[in-house]
Amino acid sequence: MALIVQKYGGTSVGTPERIKNVARRVARSVAAGNQVVVVVSAMSGETNRLIGLAKEIQANPDPRELDVMVSTGEQVTIGLLSMALIAAGQKARSYTGAQVRILTDSAFTKARILAIDEDKMRADLESGHVVVVAGFQGVDEQGNITTLGRGGSDTTGVALAAALKADECQIYTDVDGVYTTDPRIVPEARKLDRITFEEMLEMASLGSKVLQIRSVEFAGKYKVKLRVLSSFQEEGEGTLITTEENNKMEQPIISGIAFNRDEAKITVLGVPDRPGIAYQILGPVADANIDVDMIIQNVGHDGTTDFSFTVNRGDFAKTKAILEEQVKGHIGARDIVGDNRTAKVSVVGVGMRSHVGIASKMFRTLSEEGINIQMISTSEIKISVVIDEKYLELAVRVLHKAFDLDQVV
Ligand code: ADP
Ligand code: ASP
Ligand code: MG
Repeated sequence: MALIVQKYGGTSVGTPERIKNVARRVARSVAAGNQVVVVVSAMSGETNRLIGLAKEIQANPDPRELDVMVSTGEQVTIGLLSMALIAAGQKARSYTGAQVRILTDSAFTKARILAIDEDKMRADLESGHVVVVAGFQGVDEQGNITTLGRGGSDTTGVALAAALKADECQIYTDVDGVYTTDPRIVPEARKLDRITFEEMLEMASLGSKVLQIRSVEFAGKYKVKLRVLSSFQEEGEGTLITTEENNKMEQPIISGIAFNRDEAKITVLGVPDRPGIAYQILGPVADANIDVDMIIQNVGHDGTTDFSFTVNRGDFAKTKAILEEQVKGHIGARDIVGDNRTAKVSVVGVGMRSHVGIASKMFRTLSEEGINIQMISTSEIKISVVIDEKYLELAVRVLHKAFDLDQVV
């Protein structure tokens, strides 16, 4: 008998009919001899609706109170799915994150899971129940409700699979696997049968929201067998996230293209070119808990230089204000300029390690379309560029073609 964790995303539980459909799929897995723990997200659109409501009351909602209300979306779907299972003759029991005791730290709206109590789930499974757990939420040491960040139900699924040493964690969503790029942008995108943890981690962190990045980290760390599948198709193996050794069969140089529209660029002009400048500029930004992504310091001339970096678009105004108030006068910079209409495009692949010329091919392809590259950053298995947002879709399409990602391997 196998123990399977199945996670269903918002679209998959978006209507009562779809919830009944999920119940049928779960019941089938039980009938096939498996013990099943199900993790569900809120119905599609519900989390956004709840956040919108909160913002009507408070422009920057209090994080503790936001978590109290935004976590309710998942409480609705666990109840509904359990009812659907019971109505179909399958014993089932629902639990909120706090009821299971998914213990997290107290970082409201982006909490990290510290420990999971598995006793209740094990007892229920032993007595033939399907255990239905609310995704995206936990509880801290003081009993406060916490949430795990947008897309966090994926992480709940993988964390439960790790805690229960499940045989597989299946992430059911509205596409039938991980594609070479977002199939909504490039219809020619191909489904990958396998992708390595490393590549998936890069894809997720560079903007492919099919899996929350923390879920991939968790799966890699605890060796959870992780698969992405469609909840709308009866058949199909989906995409298996696997270790590099097990992925030798299919080893293209580039596995996929990720993109992120949420990038904003800030440039500090005319900075005195001396040691400590990067720290003086970025220190106050870090103190305000703002994540900095790409950083470029230009070659200095006449004793001054320009310093550029990117932040999440939502942090753009705040970052500029911090620089104006705390940095500009202090270090004697000439000006601070910004552009919040930028986007990041990345090519990702472990095969890049053993191939040269990937970067030049990427740059040539973009230049042939007249797309200006504003910033570049590389690692062993990815190359990212920042470009004007209006060229994003074009860039993704031409790169997808240039690297033959539409060709069947
Ligand atoms: P869920 O609500 O099930 O968690 P998400 O919307 O979070 O679903 O994730 C699925 C979506 O991710 C797809 O509808 C697709 O548009 C998007 N996506 C982005 N990049 C990729 C990719 N490389 N492969 C597959 N889907 C992707
Ligand atoms: N409902 C949450 C969100 O929309 C969590 C999730 O769907 O994974 O972000
Ligand atoms: Mg998701």
